[in-house]
Amino acid sequence: MIGTCGGVGGLSRGFGVDLSLFPAVRYHSAMVQGGYTAAMDRLVERLGRLPGIGKRSAERIAFYLLKASPQEVSELASALSDLKRNVRHCSQCFNLTETDPCPICADGRRDHKTVLVVEQPADVATLESTGLYRGVYHVLMGCLAPLEGIGPGELNIESLIERVEREGVTEVILGTNPTLEGDGTALYLSQRLGKMGVKVSRLARGLPTGGSLERLSKAVLADALAGRREMAEG
Ligand code: ZN
Repeated sequence: MIGTCGGVGGLSRGFGVDLSLFPAVRYHSAMVQGGYTAAMDRLVERLGRLPGIGKRSAERIAFYLLKASPQEVSELASALSDLKRNVRHCSQCFNLTETDPCPICADGRRDHKTVLVVEQPADVATLESTGLYRGVYHVLMGCLAPLEGIGPGELNIESLIERVEREGVTEVILGTNPTLEGDGTALYLSQRLGKMGVKVSRLARGLPTGGSLERLSKAVLADALAGRREMAEG
């Protein structure tokens, strides 16, 4: 009996050690029993509104942040507030910037007579990463999609036309995505710009149809830039 009691006592002591070794497990079971706190619920709800993040991912991120160091969380919080406070669209090219005009538009060493038109700021970042393009950009902020109600007035098209006129642009390279809508947008722009006597080219067709620029490798983009073809006036 003594041996048994000793055995039980040993087992019970063993349990105490086990639980103290796994505070996260005890903590997690307490959360499951008691539900989330108001602050957790709020964070999970807000994270869950982000694109591509469902409730489970939102919960995973919230728990990660709960365990992260105060410094890591405050760095994330200040990155979020800086984003809204400092980042805006360049008044000339509509790329994202913290200064206006953006560093690309303000760079006197770049060729301001050549404008590469893209759909999104991410496309500028991708093309810049090739290090091969020395002209400037114009970001449409989307592409024509009549079925979704996105016409020329919803995009930065008039500002492109005005810019080409005002700055004597000699070549416009159309770098809209190789999708149905991207091609349609390129065709529309080539017709508008062609009438103005400006050279209009389209990034070469090594680009996979249906893809988007930001997913392409530098090598494919470099080929597309080098092999751009002039678009026939419509
Ligand atoms: Zn700019």
